[in-house]
Amino acid sequence: MGEDSKVRIIVVGGGTAGWMTAATLAMSFAGRVAEVTLVESDEIGTVGVGEATVPHIRFFNQTLGIDEADFVRRTNATFKLGIEFRDWGRIGDSYIHPFGDFGHEIAGLPFHQHWLHAARDGAADVPPLEACSLPIVAARANRFAPPLDDPRAVGSTYSYAYQFDAGLYAAYLRDYAEARGVVRIEGRVDAVEQRDGGIAAIRLAGGERIEGDLFVDCSGFRALLIEGALQAGHEDWSHWLPCDAAWAVPSANTGALTPYTRATAREAGWQWRIPLQHRTGNGHVFSTRFTDPERARDLLLANLEGEALAEPRMLRFRTGRRTRQWIGNCVAIGLSAGFLEPLESTSIHLIQLAIGKLVELFPSGGVLDPADAAEFNRAMALEYDRVRDFLVLHYCATERDDTPFWRHMRTMALPPSLTETIAAFRDRGVVASYREGMFLPASWLAVCYGQRIVPDRVNPLVATTPVAESRARVAAVAAACRGAADAMPTHDAHLARIRAAA
Ligand SMILES: Cc1cc2nc3c(=O)[nH]c(=O)nc-3n(C[C@H](O)[C@H](O)[C@H](O)COP(=O)(O)OP(=O)(O)OC[C@H]3O[C@@H](n4cnc5c(N)ncnc54)[C@H](O)[C@@H]3O)c2cc1C
Repeated sequence: MGEDSKVRIIVVGGGTAGWMTAATLAMSFAGRVAEVTLVESDEIGTVGVGEATVPHIRFFNQTLGIDEADFVRRTNATFKLGIEFRDWGRIGDSYIHPFGDFGHEIAGLPFHQHWLHAARDGAADVPPLEACSLPIVAARANRFAPPLDDPRAVGSTYSYAYQFDAGLYAAYLRDYAEARGVVRIEGRVDAVEQRDGGIAAIRLAGGERIEGDLFVDCSGFRALLIEGALQAGHEDWSHWLPCDAAWAVPSANTGALTPYTRATAREAGWQWRIPLQHRTGNGHVFSTRFTDPERARDLLLANLEGEALAEPRMLRFRTGRRTRQWIGNCVAIGLSAGFLEPLESTSIHLIQLAIGKLVELFPSGGVLDPADAAEFNRAMALEYDRVRDFLVLHYCATERDDTPFWRHMRTMALPPSLTETIAAFRDRGVVASYREGMFLPASWLAVCYGQRIVPDRVNPLVATTPVAESRARVAAVAAACRGAADAMPTHDAHLARIRAAA
């Protein structure tokens, strides 16, 4: 224990994970029960490509007391209502996974059951399901406004996230953390000393030895402590998610800024497009089993909307998660804990979840309880497993058979948990809700319908409703969404207002 019996927390790594962790620990404990030191190496640098997020990031920022307008200005952020998927179910398809609901429950039954009932027999005058989601209608019209508080208003049926410059966000959090007492040490960790199945100290290249009570491994793909020293083990998922590399390149903005991220399927992977205020982030995630890096690079450059602003940079990765993410006095957070490709922008959210769990289970008085580590490992494993299933759904539910990659993806054996989820949806349009797992039924609905999985049957209670009644409900919801979206400013106008208020 440190001075005044404070827990000495050593965070190794200063990427997004390291600074999110240090900022939260500083806000929660520093100055009272803990002293926080962060070690990072400028020479090694960060991955620095995590730019698209999910709505939970807003609650992370709010917990730290971060002012949204200040954050948007300093990280060049834009607003995000969902992700557009192009060419996934079939070439030419486009659907949006929105951050919000489709319609609203009617007598305890999901709205989409009424839409299915209304649209049966291919009724031509029934609006598409996406017309019944305000965030989709607004996104397609390039409009954005924060949701309303009134739960009866259609304007309260959605949430939003941000797209931001990851480097600027880490710098922002660094300022925040240092202002609250976090001590930053620049240096390369060269050796790790172990004790009692955990970590006793780290040694830097310059010879400095740093002791701690609790070590947080935020060292990225290197996983210096959790794997390098403690050999946690890695569960490999590359048989379900074979993409193992990405080219990333920024490009100049062209036209209006879209309030959504785009993921376009390619011949052996997919391409992201993330609009920020000052540039667009682009990347091509691909499988080296099915294409070669040169071709993947050319495909990315050929499909940029604006001029490339730098040379493309290639990153390699391995999909899966650490078998244990907390061992002894060492907790892995961020890329050191596992990696799932950024198709649904989940990595930063998994960092946030791990930090929340660490704070909840924080060793009181510095005493580590193995039951806390077991609970952390159980909960985080489940979160990773559920994200994995959701990502695999995008690949397996496809009619594409135009390349060896897609033929492999549509015929591979699936995780049993995903097979069950798809079967329940295909049979009767049911998505089970669960306590843990970030994706709510509306997300599964969006992707299942978007990837052309249509339920065989309508819920029997809805099936006995007169079709005209279901059609009237669908028409009313679509009209309300249209009206609410038309009343919103454009995304560009909303951003301009925030910038002007500086
Ligand atoms: C292609 C790609 C696209 C992505 N897109 C998204 C996205 O859109 N949304 C999203 O949520 N996430 C995304 N991610 C994930 C996201 O980038 C990471 O989750 C996030 O950046 C956190 O990384 P990290 O802090 O764990 O690791 P890193 O950024 O790699 O940081 C590691 C830190 O450890 C330090 N370090 C390493 N070794 C040593 C040593 N020996 N001594 C001292 N310091 C050391 C480094 O200097 C660095 O500071 C993407 C990832 C990839 C690969």
